[in-house]
Amino acid sequence: HRVVFDRRVGFVGGVGGKIPLGLKRKGLRIVVTGGAGFVGSHLVDRLIARGDSVIVVDNFFTGFKGNLIHHFGNPRFELIRHDVVEPILLEVDQIYHLACPASPVHYKFNPVKTIKTNVVGTLNMLGLAKRVGARFLLTSTSEVYGDPLQHPQVETYWGNVNPIGVRSCYDEGKRTAETLTMDYHRGAGVEVRIARIFNTYGPRMCIDDGRVVSNFVAQALRKEPLTVYGDGKQTRSFQYVSDLVEGLMRLMEGEHVGPFNLGNPGEFTMMELAQVVQETIDPNAKIEFRPNTEDDPHKRKPDISKAKELLGWEPVVPLRKGLPMMVSDFRQRIFGDHKDGSS
Ligand code: NAD
Ligand code: UDP
Ligand code: UDP
Repeated sequence: HRVVFDRRVGFVGGVGGKIPLGLKRKGLRIVVTGGAGFVGSHLVDRLIARGDSVIVVDNFFTGFKGNLIHHFGNPRFELIRHDVVEPILLEVDQIYHLACPASPVHYKFNPVKTIKTNVVGTLNMLGLAKRVGARFLLTSTSEVYGDPLQHPQVETYWGNVNPIGVRSCYDEGKRTAETLTMDYHRGAGVEVRIARIFNTYGPRMCIDDGRVVSNFVAQALRKEPLTVYGDGKQTRSFQYVSDLVEGLMRLMEGEHVGPFNLGNPGEFTMMELAQVVQETIDPNAKIEFRPNTEDDPHKRKPDISKAKELLGWEPVVPLRKGLPMMVSDFRQRIFGDHKDGSS
């Protein structure tokens, strides 16, 4: 597959173009909460390209109008500045519920707000889904597995989560959001879907969001040392954003509630990731060790057998292919258009 990212129009020749999706139903009305963010804006691109009408609901905490500016003026696109912690009335067919800060730096900034967003925000969107009979998709997270004692993580694993730690606002918040989703499904008959997303990277990530891929890429481009936390032996599995969006759409359109792990099983230590960034950007980039953060999970890798079997989905963009597309986007945003291309 050849996937190319163009800042102005999004992915060209995208993965979905090659795989018949059975998504030919036109004219759905779809809400994307958090649609001005990193993942949400790529999802909006695909939904608009498919012919749907999209309403983005976002409070711009970590999202930007700039991520959606290419849709302004399109009559099938609408952007509402709104906080999902407050109720909202809309008439729609589907709700992709993404609103929630995702990077540890952002979600720890105001932990009480993070948990309100996860609990009250999700409750409101489920209430909306119930009222209008819309299908609801929750973007949960691999963090529901905590510091996992099972490796790789299967959906049936219940996790190892600290309920009173600094990450709890996010991981316990998402666990409660999953509970609410299942209770609206069982109790009120709402059609729901749950995705557990593993670490995702790509163009439009916030440059200074503190996540490891964005940090390393920005540091290498700025000729700063790559900051490896702890001994760098902890692992993560990195998924390119177009693969995730494909998985989310298949999940929404399919017949299965989930939860489904959506991630790339390619597992890297942080030292290995630093090496790939060096190979891609600057072989001379230095590495600097820093103390690790509290409650940092040691290992993380999705078992995606369930999504493969029931959604016919698996990632197609490996780290070494995806990273260069993110690097050219970061290069443009850090240095301006004129420095695009090889350095
Ligand atoms: P992001 O921070 O780029 O996007 C989140 C969006 O939600 C932003 O536009 C933000 O302004 C908006 N938002 C936050 N709180 C809100 C509120 N109270 N009301 C309305 N809007 C609000 O993050 P992302 O990486 O695009 O993540 C999107 C979703 O996917 C999140 O729910 C996140 O938990 C989940 N997820 C992401 C990853 C990943 O690696 N990117 C991994 C696991 C789960
Ligand atoms: N809600 C909303 N939009 C709607 C319907 C409901 O924001 O179109 C909110 C509503 O304000 C409430 C939450 O969703 O806070 C849960 O709604 P539900 O009807 O399930 O519960 P109830 O209002 O009976 O507590
Ligand atoms: N990390 C790192 N250097 C950084 C930022 C993060 O070594 O500059 C490590 C971090 O300690 C964790 C891993 O990278 O072990 C992934 O962190 P991230 O914040 O990207 O995501 P999450 O912890 O939510 O998986």
